[in-house]
Amino acid sequence: MEYDVVVVGGGPSGLSAAIRLKQKAEEAGAEINVCVLEKGSEIGAHILSGAVMDPRAITELFPNWQEMGAPLNVPVTAEKFMMLTEPSSIGVPAKLLPPPMQNHGNYIVSLGNVCRWLGEQAEAAGVEIYPGFAAAEVLYHEDGSVKGVATGDMGIGRDGQPKEGMHTPGIELHAKYTFFAEGCRGSLTKQLMEKFDLQEHCEPQTYGIGIKELWEVPAENHQEGLVVHTAGWPLNRSTYGGSFLYHLEGNQIAVGFVVGLDYQNPYLSPFEEFQRYKTHPDIAHYFKGGKRVAYGARALNEGGLQCVPDLAFPGGALIGCAAGFMNVPKIKGSHNAIKTGMMAAEAAFDALTGAGEGEAPKVLEAYPKAYENSWVYKELYQARNVRPSFAKWGLIGGTLYTGIEQMLFRGNVPWTFKHGHRDHESLKKKSEAKPIDYPKPDGVLTFDRLSSVFISNTNHEEDQPVHLTLKDDSVPVQHNLELYDAPEQRFCPAGVYEIVRDDDGSNPQLQINAQNCVHCKTCDIKDPTQNINWVTPEGGGGPNYPNM
Ligand SMILES: Cc1cc2nc3c(=O)[nH]c(=O)nc-3n(C[C@H](O)[C@H](O)[C@H](O)COP(=O)(O)OP(=O)(O)OC[C@H]3O[C@@H](n4cnc5c(N)ncnc54)[C@H](O)[C@@H]3O)c2cc1C
Ligand code: SF4
Repeated sequence: MEYDVVVVGGGPSGLSAAIRLKQKAEEAGAEINVCVLEKGSEIGAHILSGAVMDPRAITELFPNWQEMGAPLNVPVTAEKFMMLTEPSSIGVPAKLLPPPMQNHGNYIVSLGNVCRWLGEQAEAAGVEIYPGFAAAEVLYHEDGSVKGVATGDMGIGRDGQPKEGMHTPGIELHAKYTFFAEGCRGSLTKQLMEKFDLQEHCEPQTYGIGIKELWEVPAENHQEGLVVHTAGWPLNRSTYGGSFLYHLEGNQIAVGFVVGLDYQNPYLSPFEEFQRYKTHPDIAHYFKGGKRVAYGARALNEGGLQCVPDLAFPGGALIGCAAGFMNVPKIKGSHNAIKTGMMAAEAAFDALTGAGEGEAPKVLEAYPKAYENSWVYKELYQARNVRPSFAKWGLIGGTLYTGIEQMLFRGNVPWTFKHGHRDHESLKKKSEAKPIDYPKPDGVLTFDRLSSVFISNTNHEEDQPVHLTLKDDSVPVQHNLELYDAPEQRFCPAGVYEIVRDDDGSNPQLQINAQNCVHCKTCDIKDPTQNINWVTPEGGGGPNYPNM
């Protein structure tokens, strides 16, 4: 199938790029064919975010989004920030927070629902959307430029052989430009970074894992429009992270916990830290008498400006969190995802309509230039020292530094801190680390992984090749178990990795429960030797998030 632009990923960046291309074509009376591939069973099924949304970018895309009925229904009306200690907390008035952390003028949304709405707008504008199709392979022209992508085969058995009567080969989609909008740690994006050396001019990306639940709570516990953030307990002072708690419409609360993936203790479990956090007396009361209705997890970029790779390469571009435009102190990336999708679309439109007959598509240099002159760049520039200052000086030092830098200088200081590490290299050996004794879940406020995965509605065809591939089968036991007590058992928020043994405790083996995977990509990031390579399973597999 031939298109002008193929977009891989139906998140905020991919859908906005597709819409912007169609808007530009309509303004100019031109014909541009655009298609979007989405690995989730529907648009929004794999979207997990906080989310408080800065409406700046969506307002540029649709100045009349309010009349059009975009689901940004809950303006932020109140906010709190608390530094948690084990028995109590210290509140910081919103007025004293650095400007990027203030949320006046923003909206509490379900990003999944925003994407569903963007998907409807895209379809109405003539974009072809194919949910349930994962782009599994990048296709190249003979000159090395990107030719498009191929979707994965359906109906391949666990043994790698086609299943009788069920096999449907993947399809090739060719395009003049292919946009990779896979979000944080995209599986094809990772290959492109290597093929085109896109990280040559930047630092390696750093990440966090965000784990989230959606609760329905009694009306008396709920204050529509309230935003609560915390730092501190249950994490120690040298581990980066914190929580968000957003009061949505309909007596729902979105609650989540983020842990920086440069954590050092191999015994740490981000999932268990999140469960523990909910038991804090200043937090637990929100959930009293309530019911947890959804669960999920997703990695997020934390590297910011220093880690933005080269954005354009022959035949394609990286947009949104595939490149990594998350603003860490704001805890927001959706506005930057939308805006970068729009900028890439504008560059592609000009290149497509300006190209002579038979001329090869040019590298979209106009897109990185537009980014460098945009408010996205300015915002990331001002935020650039926040995350590395926490890595350098821990919670107290990082908070003090950030307070001074952001309040007095708005981030406009003449120095830029480096991150100086890769997340997978940060674990201490088990012999140097202290095991953490996590409390047992009570099934009311705190839960185990399996009952959590159950309400992520995750579903994978079981008879298919395992999509958590290992470069070397011996590493999990001989290296990870030996040196780090198999940290994949703890960093995976879905219980995919289990060390199983014979009845007498001998013969440890790694069992991969791939059907539980919620596509958060943490294992691909944190595995100490980068032995785990996440590849796309059959399209349509994975979580089926409602309004996450
Ligand atoms: C816990 C958490 C809290 C957050 N809180 C906020 C917040 O409060 N406010 C805010 O603005 N931002 C927040 N963010 C960040 C925000 O979610 C991201 O910046 C935003 O979702 C990025 O959009 P994207 O389109 O680049 O990628 P995504 O939203 O990740 O979308 C990518 C899409 O591509 C699909 N895809 C991936 N690979 C393939 C493939 N090979 N083939 C087909 N489809 C594919 C995925 O299924 C997905 O639907 C948060 C993120 C997390 C994880
Ligand atoms: S297997 Fe990997 S990608 Fe899947 S849920 Fe676990 S850590 Fe996330």
